Amino acid sequence: MKNLYDAVSHFKSDIYPGLSGLFNELASSQAPNVLFITCSDSRVVPSLITDASPGELFVLRNVGNIVPPAEQAGDGESAVLEYAVKALGVGHIVVCGHSNCGAMHGVVSPGNLATLPHVAGWLKNADETAQKIKESLPEADEATRWKAAIELNVVSQLDNVRSYSFVADALEAGSLQLHGWVYDIAAGEVVDYDSERGRFVEYEG
Ligand code: ZN
Repeated sequence: MKNLYDAVSHFKSDIYPGLSGLFNELASSQAPNVLFITCSDSRVVPSLITDASPGELFVLRNVGNIVPPAEQAGDGESAVLEYAVKALGVGHIVVCGHSNCGAMHGVVSPGNLATLPHVAGWLKNADETAQKIKESLPEADEATRWKAAIELNVVSQLDNVRSYSFVADALEAGSLQLHGWVYDIAAGEVVDYDSERGRFVEYEG
C-alpha cells in the first residue's frame, strides 16, 4: 500500500501539471455522457477499461453493481440515476459486472455472509438473481452458478434501471441507451449483453 499522502503529493507535482488545462476547464462544470454503474471491487477501474478522461464518466459504485427498482428505491442509487439522466442528460448507462465478484459469490453461497449483516442485507436486492440461479442451475457446481449469477445480475439491474419513469422516458425519446457488460479481470476483456440473442457477446463494433 502506497502512503496516500505521498501519492497526493505525487499527483500535485507530477501528474496535475500535465492536465491543469483540463482540470481548470472542468472546475466549473461537468458534462459526462456516460453513467457507469459498477462494483466497488478495487480491481475494476472504470476510467482505465474505457480509456476515459476526467469529466467523461459519472460513476455509481456499490457492492454488486446493484440498482434497486423504482418501487424499492432508497435515496442513494436513485439519486445518482436521477441526476445522471435528468440533470446531466447522459446518453448512455452502462451496468458493468465483473469476473470473480465477491458480492455475486455471496448471492450463490449466502452462508459466507453470516458475519457480514450489512452486506447480506444489501444483497437482498439481488434475491431475484439468486432465485433464478436456483431454478435454472439446480445441479451446477458453485463456479458455474457464480459465473451465471454475475451475468444474470447485470441483466436484472438493467431491468431495474428501466423501471424508473425518467429512464423509460429517455429511452422512448431515443436520447438514452443502456448497456450490460461483464469485465473479465484476468483476460482484460469486456463482453456486452445482446438483448436480442439473450446472451453476452464480444463487442462487434
Ligand atoms: Zn464485485
